[in-house]
Amino acid sequence: METTLILLKPDTVERSLVGQVISRLENKGLKINGLKMMQLDDAIIEEHYDFLMDKPFFPGIKAYMKRTPVVAIAVSGANAIATVRNLTGATNPSEALPGSIRGDFALTIDANIIHASDSAETAEKELKRFFNEGEVVEYTKVTDAVV
Ligand code: ATP
Ligand code: MG
Repeated sequence: METTLILLKPDTVERSLVGQVISRLENKGLKINGLKMMQLDDAIIEEHYDFLMDKPFFPGIKAYMKRTPVVAIAVSGANAIATVRNLTGATNPSEALPGSIRGDFALTIDANIIHASDSAETAEKELKRFFNEGEVVEYTKVTDAVV
């Protein structure tokens, strides 16, 4: 069982797509273990996207990630990390396959709806970055036995 970190980015909140994106995660059989809305500041964005800080488009990413609150979600399930990356689709929505979240809901890389951790190591770091101790909770669902 893996747990991964998802951010529903500002455009998802602005376009009232939060429910539709969360439904896709739930429909897949993933379990929500943590969920909260957050206004990101420079420090957390610089930490989260530190590998992009030298890129010319970094100021644009920072402005985008700050302009409206995001929704942080911790989800778990078998192979959750790779599964959520597949549901998410390619970074550039113009290349994301129809049926994927970016493929169905986004047009450009500047506003691509969702972030998902890309490895077990990243997921562990990112869950700690966005959730405090006690905010990711364990529980049993009646559907646990059938997914
Ligand atoms: P994310 O980390 O947000 O889930 P990703 O893992 O698919 O996306 P990364 O390479 O980690 O892709 O890039 C992080 C984010 O930086 C992208 O989601 C996108 O918002 C932005 N980004 C990446 N490359 C570009 C680019 N060439 N132009 C503009 N924005 C970009
Ligand atoms: Mg990434």
